[in-house]
Amino acid sequence: MSTPAPQRKVAVIGSGIAGLAGAIRLAAQGLAVDVFEAEHTVGGKISEQHVDGFRFDRGPSVLTMPQYIDDLFRLAGEDPAAHIRYERLDPVFHYFFADGSRFQSHADRERFITALSELTVTRPEELRTFFHRAARKLELTDPVFLQRSLHRLRNYTDRATFRGLFHLGALQAFTTMDRANRRLLRDPRTVALFNQYASYNGSDPFQAPATLNLIAHYELGLGAYYPVGGMYRIAAELHGLAERLGVRFHLGTPVERILTERRRVTGIRVGGADLPYTAVLANADVHHVFRILLPDVKGPRLVLDRPRSSSVVVFFWGMEGTSPELGLHNLFLSGDQRDEYEHLFRAKNIGADPSVYVYISSKKNPADAPPGMENWFVMISVPPLSERTDTEAEMDKLRARAREAAITKLSRLLGRDVSAAIRVERTMDPRTIAQRTRSAFGSVYGYSSNGMLSAFLRHANFSRRVKGLYLSGGSVHPGPSIPLSLLSAKIASGMVVEAVGK
Ligand SMILES: Cc1cc2nc3c(=O)[nH]c(=O)nc-3n(C[C@H](O)[C@H](O)[C@H](O)COP(=O)(O)OP(=O)(O)OC[C@H]3O[C@@H](n4cnc5c(N)ncnc54)[C@H](O)[C@@H]3O)c2cc1C
Repeated sequence: MSTPAPQRKVAVIGSGIAGLAGAIRLAAQGLAVDVFEAEHTVGGKISEQHVDGFRFDRGPSVLTMPQYIDDLFRLAGEDPAAHIRYERLDPVFHYFFADGSRFQSHADRERFITALSELTVTRPEELRTFFHRAARKLELTDPVFLQRSLHRLRNYTDRATFRGLFHLGALQAFTTMDRANRRLLRDPRTVALFNQYASYNGSDPFQAPATLNLIAHYELGLGAYYPVGGMYRIAAELHGLAERLGVRFHLGTPVERILTERRRVTGIRVGGADLPYTAVLANADVHHVFRILLPDVKGPRLVLDRPRSSSVVVFFWGMEGTSPELGLHNLFLSGDQRDEYEHLFRAKNIGADPSVYVYISSKKNPADAPPGMENWFVMISVPPLSERTDTEAEMDKLRARAREAAITKLSRLLGRDVSAAIRVERTMDPRTIAQRTRSAFGSVYGYSSNGMLSAFLRHANFSRRVKGLYLSGGSVHPGPSIPLSLLSAKIASGMVVEAVGK
């Protein structure tokens, strides 16, 4: 009688979006998967809270590429629409410029162009060129830089890569977003509007390569969506799908160590007990993985010690009354963007007039607030924790400044004292983010993209130093955000299946 093959087991560390997606992909391939999550709920940065009749999404709010979520249901042979539905947004954002002018970004391209060229001195051709270039950047980078590993030699030898490299000029990798935008767009408000897409991955438009102008194409070309019921539905529905595929979840169970023998994964340590696993798919921040979970392995310093992305302070305000001039997504732009980013990335502080983002999910989902009220998620970018801000007193000061700046700006541009309408208040800052998600230094988007080589300096989806260790999530290739984290899970889980077999 032949002996049965040993059960191949994979431990997933963390149930952020990439942990959930990785577990689903592995289980759909027939692997036995256990997910260990330090918190008592799944989702990582995608989370929600209920306070006195208000529901607040606590993390991401702008959803692009929902088809990557749908793919996971299809892999399991399920109909995504039976579980989660999305509404395409139009308008996408309500913009409030510092001079008091307002603009709504319409999903319809011509409507967008007409409205912005009527409001500003931007010519329609400038905008058409911007959109064409942004789309082209995504078309060139997607197959080469986003959909697969950048760290495998064999991925550099096919036509798509050569095409990408041949068209390096179109990527505008050697100039900054701000420089490229100023060269093309004559109106400073239009430049500011497109520059601010750098903040979508916690970067600085005055340092980040103009390649990142492709982010605008995700939102305005491919579309921004709202998941019916709120952002947390994404995590909750993927949790359900994973369980239906047989994934076992261990919530409130922090992993203490990744166990290795001769540089190969042998298991993990949880609650002092050593559990054997053939492979580990780490969804935790790569800094946490090497510095805390693998203290005896020298992590790649060039990768791990790079500057982190920015963080945020968020105020969750339950507001009395309703605001017809506001939509689901609202951005009150800084009047001095250069000063804003100088403070954020160089002085490690908040400038005199920071941009303020306000997300009101009760505009789409009235049940998120009591009748006649709204749930405001008010966000300001701040530096991640550092020697300058990691004392409690310093961080409290920064948070107080952010609150004052938000109230001043919103009150001025809305023409009323917004603080008078606040009935309920909760706060999130880099400390909370670091505690709840173990994101190093409380940064929101892993590492910053403030450099031409940043895409190449992100950690790979596998470890060269520890065999059997794979990595996914916003801190590794191809980068942060829901869609890119989902791609990281696809790449990393593909590697696990290749290595461990079915
Ligand atoms: C305020 C905010 C706004 C954002 N806005 C947007 C947006 O509008 N659109 C967008 O696309 N993205 C946005 N993002 C970014 C997006 O949320 C993240 O890029 C994405 O969710 C990262 O997911 P992840 O897979 O890296 O895991 P994370 O969400 O970072 O989760 C990692 C998980 O691992 C767990 N973990 C860590 N260490 C251990 C351990 N030792 N043992 C067990 N578990 C462990 C953590 O508890 C956590 O649950 C935003 C993020 C924040 C915080």
